[in-house]
Amino acid sequence: STQIQLVRRPQGWPEPEDFRIEKVAYGELEPGQVRVANAFLSVDPYMRGRMNDAKSYIPPFVLGETMTGGAVGRVVESAAEALPVGSVVLHQYGWRDLVQEDAAGFTLVPEMPGVPLSLRLGILGMTGMTGYVGLTAIADLQPGDTVFVSGAAGAVGTAVGQIAKLLGAGRVIGSAGSPEKVRLLTEKYGYDAAFNYKDAPVREQLKALAPDGVDVFFDNVGGDHLEAALDVMNREGRIAACGAISLYNSTERKPGPDNLAKIIQQSLTIKGFTLGGYTHLREEFGTRMAEWFGQGRIAYDETIVDGVEHAVDALLDMMRGKNTGKMIVRV
Ligand code: NDP
Repeated sequence: STQIQLVRRPQGWPEPEDFRIEKVAYGELEPGQVRVANAFLSVDPYMRGRMNDAKSYIPPFVLGETMTGGAVGRVVESAAEALPVGSVVLHQYGWRDLVQEDAAGFTLVPEMPGVPLSLRLGILGMTGMTGYVGLTAIADLQPGDTVFVSGAAGAVGTAVGQIAKLLGAGRVIGSAGSPEKVRLLTEKYGYDAAFNYKDAPVREQLKALAPDGVDVFFDNVGGDHLEAALDVMNREGRIAACGAISLYNSTERKPGPDNLAKIIQQSLTIKGFTLGGYTHLREEFGTRMAEWFGQGRIAYDETIVDGVEHAVDALLDMMRGKNTGKMIVRV
């Protein structure tokens, strides 16, 4: 099996030397084990945090060991009744092409004809559910609300805009980092307005596009985007703090928003969340998303990088914004 290991903790942006490619040989299957050939691996922003030796909601990657992460694959050998050969499984043994472990570490997922397995890592899986949970359980989205989404052309962001509209949102505004992405937001993802945060200060651009203020801010970026949103939040507005990707590779401490008093003045609620705390909503999300998807009301994009040996490049490219929609590694 070809596996990617972390060998040095990055300072700032990760470098190729922080990783190594290892060949790992598995023995015969033990009773209860399965061997799974991964089809697609997920690379996600939270993985950058796991490269630091810091206490967080998930433990850091162990130096010299194969990294873990979301993946979807197919059972190719089985010594477990529950997972016969051919089963499609979702699991956390990413960053490798082949894995052999106890069947309990894998979740059987039904195969849907014509639907790529990779969507289980994106719009039909973790990132889609993040959008749904953030809008419903965290931001308490109400019909007619004006919504602003930062990082709108990424995996989570493309889910958020569409789900907001399906749940009855009013005006939906998004920001992204290229003219192509901005165009896609309004043409494909149902955004009413979008801007390129690299063109001019977020504060100015958002103010111009949200003349009636913002009721719900779904934040994937933090920093300048959070500050700009605070400026325009309406009374009783809700902020779902989902991510702060503008800060993940930063080596210095950045000053916070200069307008935090808006939280008081406008009676705002800012609530952070990590999806792991909302597994009880998995079924609800699965049912609603399957319905929307089946009705052809869900668009998606994937940026696919081939080869497990290019997984680190995929992760770095994602953090640099080379992806549209979900960044996926095809094994
Ligand atoms: P994306 O697909 O959105 O990829 C990351 C994107 O971030 C890039 O494409 C890039 O797009 C953008 N970006 C990078 N640097 C900056 C910057 N300095 N300012 C603004 N945008 C930047 O990743 P995901 O959809 O997987 O994740 C999006 C966010 O959601 C992340 O913050 C992540 O940590 C968070 N998240 C949180 C979860 C939770 O449970 N709370 C679960 C999953 C994700 P561009 O070209 O527009 O710059």
